[in-house]
Amino acid sequence: MTREARCWCGDLRLTLKGDPFYVSSCACTRCQRRTGGFFGVTVYARPEQIAARSGETQTFKLSDGSTTFHRCARCGTNLWWVPDEEDDVIGLAGGCFVGQNLPAPQRMVYTATRHPWVCVPEGLPEYEDAAPE
Ligand SMILES: [Zn+2]
Ligand SMILES: [Zn+2]
Repeated sequence: MTREARCWCGDLRLTLKGDPFYVSSCACTRCQRRTGGFFGVTVYARPEQIAARSGETQTFKLSDGSTTFHRCARCGTNLWWVPDEEDDVIGLAGGCFVGQNLPAPQRMVYTATRHPWVCVPEGLPEYEDAAPE
C-alpha cells in the first residue's frame, strides 16, 4: 500500500510505500514551534520506502546541525527531515498524511513541556524527555 503526504499548498508531495516502522508523538519545544501545534507526530520510514516525490524544497538546519529539515519552497510546510548522522531513516510529518489512515503513535516523548491539558491516550508509553534507545 502507499500513502501520500503533501504540504499545505499541494506543490510538495511524497509517496510512502508500506507502513512506517515507527510513529512517535513529541511535545518538545522545537516540535511545538516547528508545527505550530501542541505536539508533532513523526512517521519514521526507510529512505527506500519513498516511491515518488515532487515539488521544490528549501532546507533548514537547527543550530546544532544534527538534522536537515525539508520545507515546501512555496508554502513553507515542513514535510520531512533527515538526521545527518543516519542515512537509513527519514522522518515525515504525520499531520501531512491527511485522510491516509496512519498507524497510531507508539509513544509520546518530551511530555515535560506539553500543555497540561494535552491528553495522552491511555496505555501509550510516555517519556518526560527523549525515549530510551
Ligand atoms: Zn507547499
Ligand atoms: Zn520534538
